[in-house]
Amino acid sequence: MGVADLHCHSRFSDGTLPVDALVALAAARGVRLLALTDHDEVSGVKEARKAAAEHDVRLVSGVEISAQWQGISVHVVGLRLDENNPELAVALARIRAQRNERAERMGDSFAAMGIAGVLDGARAYAPNPNLLSRTHFARHLVDSGVCASVGEVFARFMKPGKPGYVKHEWLPMDAAVALIHGAGGRAVLAHPSRYETEGLGGKQALLRDFSDAGGDAVEVVCAAHYPPEWAEYAALARKFSLLASIGSDFHSPMESRVKFGDLPRLSPNLKAVWHDWPEAECMHA
Ligand code: AMP
Ligand code: MN
Ligand code: MN
Ligand code: MN
Repeated sequence: MGVADLHCHSRFSDGTLPVDALVALAAARGVRLLALTDHDEVSGVKEARKAAAEHDVRLVSGVEISAQWQGISVHVVGLRLDENNPELAVALARIRAQRNERAERMGDSFAAMGIAGVLDGARAYAPNPNLLSRTHFARHLVDSGVCASVGEVFARFMKPGKPGYVKHEWLPMDAAVALIHGAGGRAVLAHPSRYETEGLGGKQALLRDFSDAGGDAVEVVCAAHYPPEWAEYAALARKFSLLASIGSDFHSPMESRVKFGDLPRLSPNLKAVWHDWPEAECMHA
């Protein structure tokens, strides 16, 4: 049976590898069904498809849309969508432009703390000038000696409530789901354990709303989850009739906790998000 990984990032967003190297690495680590899911950006998909054909990998198109639910930021992965869909292109371009505005305000907030040049520094780490992420800020702040690690940057400066954090209104979660459906794809709630849902009804409320919005699947097995959470989200997937997905959220050989191919398989009593995809024949063989 093949190995699936339906969530990873290239240099088109905040990953550190070019698309061809990313696909080659996934292939070398045994991944047979792969989705490239850059943040708010589908420009790498064409290249990924070409690289996948050279490495005996089945590629499905993907994107990770920055969205919000109840005032918190949530990520909705779109899988097997038409990456050339015009409405999708317009909406993603708008989000990327908003990212640039947010980045300017983040630069200002660091300047107000006496840390100058952070926006230009972050830009130098962003290979795609139209996609500026907090990760690029974090890499700059580590390499310029302000913090010892990317994790420390987020903990000290860039999480909600911290002085370099800039709150942003992303696309409502149900609109992100509708956008993905409009492009013919399946909508997957990414890394659910990462969201701070206390006081908002917890994960049950989030998954119920996602399901009610027409969301198709949830990441049950992902790097953000510890083993007890695999079982917790497997149960929630069944409870809310969501398909199950698996994704490492791989960004970089240096930074990512889980390598391609190292996640456990989905439990056979879950229905996989790829269950009826022709590309997923390798998963049944
Ligand atoms: P953004 O979409 O620009 O707000 O940035 C979110 C990205 O920052 C995520 O996709 C992760 O790659 C990264 N990130 C978020 N929280 C952390 C953290 N605590 N440690 C390391 N990276 C993080
Ligand atoms: Mn990221
Ligand atoms: Mn994410
Ligand atoms: Mn991701």
